[in-house]
This record gives sequence, structure tokens and C-alpha cells, in this order.
Amino acid sequence: MLELNTKKRCPYCGETKVKFSKEHIISASVLRRVFGTPVKNIVGGELFGGRNLIDNEPTSKHVCKDCNSSLSPYDTEAAIFVGEICAHHNLIGRSVSFNLNRMNWLMKTHLNCLQITKSIRTGDRYHFSEEIYRSILNRERVNSDLYALGLEGLETDARNWNIDDMKNVSFFHYRSVEFIDQNVLVSDFRIKSLHTFIFLPINNEYLFFKERVASTLKEMRNEVGIKPELVTPALQESHHIPVTSIVSRNDLVRLFELEDRMRAPGH
Ligand SMILES: [Zn+2]
Repeated sequence: MLELNTKKRCPYCGETKVKFSKEHIISASVLRRVFGTPVKNIVGGELFGGRNLIDNEPTSKHVCKDCNSSLSPYDTEAAIFVGEICAHHNLIGRSVSFNLNRMNWLMKTHLNCLQITKSIRTGDRYHFSEEIYRSILNRERVNSDLYALGLEGLETDARNWNIDDMKNVSFFHYRSVEFIDQNVLVSDFRIKSLHTFIFLPINNEYLFFKERVASTLKEMRNEVGIKPELVTPALQESHHIPVTSIVSRNDLVRLFELEDRMRAPGH
């Protein structure tokens, strides 16, 4: 209710007196590239009511019209990026190719998901560095001190990726987890067999951020068995980053069961 009284502000330009337009949470061009039309088996995860959405393209009206169109050039490159990742059943022995457009699209997508997420703990929306939004808008490299990126692959095979079978794993999955002791938010956006993790400070507090991320990684490893490899893509040109951390098939069964429970009706 309180939100109705708060002036809606575009996170990219900071303006309030602007027209807002629909932004695809996951770019439409990416969805078309992966699924064709109609779009199927899009997304699963807490953000989307814990279930898979079929023939549905989640959108949000948090970005202003001008910024939305300034951001749209990312989508073309993103379709190629996601197309490359989705071309394989898993990424064992493979690498993921990053450049400025791909990295900024990935960051934008994480922020889109987080923008419509509220803290389960406090019920508040998150606030992130304005510098991150500004860099994405200006098509510049986001200062790597402001976030951390982790990658982890999954040992899957063709059986897991039949688009027509809803019992299979969703091609895109999203969730975020707060690590309270470290005051770190972990945003987890899975593109087929690749988990991309963005680490951000809860409410934009950067003191000892690197140390807090290291401590969060340790907790993820020890408590949940998730072991993302932190990477810093060089974005001047295409940078191939090998996916060195892969979740084994045995561990996967456990993780997928967890995802299944998360998207079970009534959960
Ligand atoms: Zn704007």
C-alpha cells in the first residue's frame, strides 16, 4: 500500500516524470531464439510463483520509455549469447564467450528480476548502485568492484531439455537468496545448463564487499554444495571463459528435486 504514495522512478535515468513502458524480464529476442513461437517452458523459480509459465513472456513496467529503447540494442547480441549456451546439453569442457554487450545484458536481466523481487525478510525492495544502472544505460563496462559474477555448469543431457515435456527442467530459472551475516544478495539466473550468479551488497552497502562475497561463497559451498567459480570477463573484445565448476549428475538430482518442490502447486 505504501508504494502507491512513492513516486515511481526509472532506475536507469533516475527520472520520475517520464512515461514507463513494458520491459521484458528476459528479452523477447532471446525467448524467440530459444523457443521460436509460441514461446514455451520459459521460466521457473520463486519470481514466477514457483512454477513454469507456458506461452507467457513476463514483463515489468519499471523502466522508462526512453531508457527502454536505449537498452534494446543489447537484445540482438543477447540472442546470440543465449543461443550459444543453449546449443549444448551441458557445458562440460566448453567455455562461455563474453563481451561488453553480453555482460551488460546479463546484468540487466538480473536487475530486472531483482527489480520485481522483494526481500522475503523485510518485504522491502532492493536498492542497487546508481552507477551500475548508468553504466548499462551508457553501454559502458560496469565497474567490477560493484558486483561479483560466478558461473557454474550442470551435468545434464538431451533428456533434460525436451521443450515439449513440462516435466523437464525449465530452460530459464530464477531465484535470489539473501545471506544475512554477509549482507550479500545472491541473484541466480540459470540459462539452460549454466547458472549465472551475481553477487550484490544488500541495500548498496559496499564496506568490505570482496571479503563478504568470499565468505558468502564459502557458505554456499559448505551449506548447500553450490560452488560457483568467480570470473571477471575482460570486455574489450570477446573473452572465452571456461566453465570449470560443474555440478555432477548425482548432485543435480538433489538440486532439481529442490527446484521441483519450489514450483509445485500450492508452494
Ligand atoms: Zn529512464
